[in-house]
Amino acid sequence: EEATDRPTIRALDQTTIQRIAAGEVVERPASVVKELVENSLDADASRVSVAVHNGGKDGVRVRDDGVGMTAEELELAVQEHTTSKISDIDDLETGVGTLGFRGEALHTISAVSRTTIRSKPRDVASAGAEVTVEGGDVGEVRPAGCPAGTTIEVEDLFFNTPARKKFLKTDATEFDHVNTVVTQYALANPDVAVSLEHNDREVFATEGQGSLESTVLSVYGREVAEAMTPVDADPDSDAVAAVSGLVSHPETTRSGREYLSTFVNGRYVTAGVLREAVLDAYGGQLAPDRYPFAVLFLDVPPNSVDVNVHPRKMEVRFDDESGVKAAVESAVESALLEGGLVRSSAPRG
Ligand code: ADP
Ligand code: MG
Repeated sequence: EEATDRPTIRALDQTTIQRIAAGEVVERPASVVKELVENSLDADASRVSVAVHNGGKDGVRVRDDGVGMTAEELELAVQEHTTSKISDIDDLETGVGTLGFRGEALHTISAVSRTTIRSKPRDVASAGAEVTVEGGDVGEVRPAGCPAGTTIEVEDLFFNTPARKKFLKTDATEFDHVNTVVTQYALANPDVAVSLEHNDREVFATEGQGSLESTVLSVYGREVAEAMTPVDADPDSDAVAAVSGLVSHPETTRSGREYLSTFVNGRYVTAGVLREAVLDAYGGQLAPDRYPFAVLFLDVPPNSVDVNVHPRKMEVRFDDESGVKAAVESAVESALLEGGLVRSSAPRG
């Protein structure tokens, strides 16, 4: 037989398969924060506290006062493909009301870190319990004294995947990503008290009293909050999307970073078409390279939007892109006009 250097096809072992899969869900500390905060919101929490150290590289902790888990549920929650949110494919077809449903976040996060989960159910008499998972090795579930709700601590992220760890950026950059994620969930949930700490210092804390204005005040500060004007598109119009929220005065802007937050049916999303619509609405009112603040909620029929483009990314696709763009642009334009923030393009006097 002739010698060749043809590659050998072989089956990967389970550990390798899991590490590869983990990389799809967990890219950096901010992705851990996103998954844990989504779980807290899905658990009906009224308070979600996030604390990170050194951009999240040296620890992420998310605490909530949600429904909590029993010891038995805790044991299940860290297994592969375990979820309380859907039971079969029909649930996916009829629409999922929760942020998560894949049942892979806790499992994959704990495969690439040292994760401790402490939980106590809110509505049934049951003691608290905790479990530690180190690089996928699930420890014993032990009794633990803790308040109702769930606390998850993720330490030594990527300790067993050095290649991925190497790609993490500076603490400041990683913290920026964490801050962006927590800010979006705080803005999307004004009825939940959301707080963020970095290296034991409070970055922001919302009241959770249900008002978007006061949430913006807590998150962005007074100068920005006072420059915001309400967007409230006429619900009777035949636009393809109902649009509401707040946008800033064209002179209250930031350079470089964009503070445009868009939510479709309550879910934080990014979409080039929404960004363009907002910026176009301001027209020539913005100075070059300056971006306004916008917090916009779009309600569209669930079957007119695809939110399942990628488990980690937050992109969406609309059936009627140009209709959505027109609806957002005109809602923001009239908000700016009504707020007296933009000169009408019609000749005056
Ligand atoms: P998913 O969110 O897709 O169901 P996860 O791996 O994120 O998958 O979580 C697995 C399960 O663990 C959830 O379905 C839920 O039952 C439980 N769980 C996770 N986090 C919490 C939490 N903060 N409070 C209560 N239950 C939780
Ligand atoms: Mg989840």
